[in-house]
Amino acid sequence: MDCLFCKIAAGEIPSAKVYEDETILAFRDINPQAPTHILVIPKAHIGSVAELTEANAALVGHIFAVIPEIAVREGLTGGFRIVSNCGPDAGQSVPHLHFHILGGKELSLEMA
Ligand code: 5GP
Ligand code: ZN
Repeated sequence: MDCLFCKIAAGEIPSAKVYEDETILAFRDINPQAPTHILVIPKAHIGSVAELTEANAALVGHIFAVIPEIAVREGLTGGFRIVSNCGPDAGQSVPHLHFHILGGKELSLEMA
């Protein structure tokens, strides 16, 4: 499939990885909106939150178990924000499920 984040997950396009295991990958956003801006993706293609079902529960649970580990490693002691844009109204620009981790400053009520 011609999907940017599938290619990043496969290593076909380089990324600044901060975490990787068999099922998920976390890497730095190429256009950071905060001092720390990391994207967490499943390696398998899922279009967005809108496509999630009970069948993905373990995967999503795993992502949310790893996010706090990344936050600790990144020194986000003041807190952080998780964002997942879903569909055009939310401005989703890459149609592969991803969770933004934003932190390292006091965040506004905009996404970052
Ligand atoms: P969305 O707008 O879909 O919620 O988020 C997509 C994010 O992917 C954006 O924050 C954008 O900066 C990031 N992004 C787009 N292309 C690349 C890329 O090639 N590499 C990395 N590391 N991030 C990317
Ligand atoms: Zn994909």
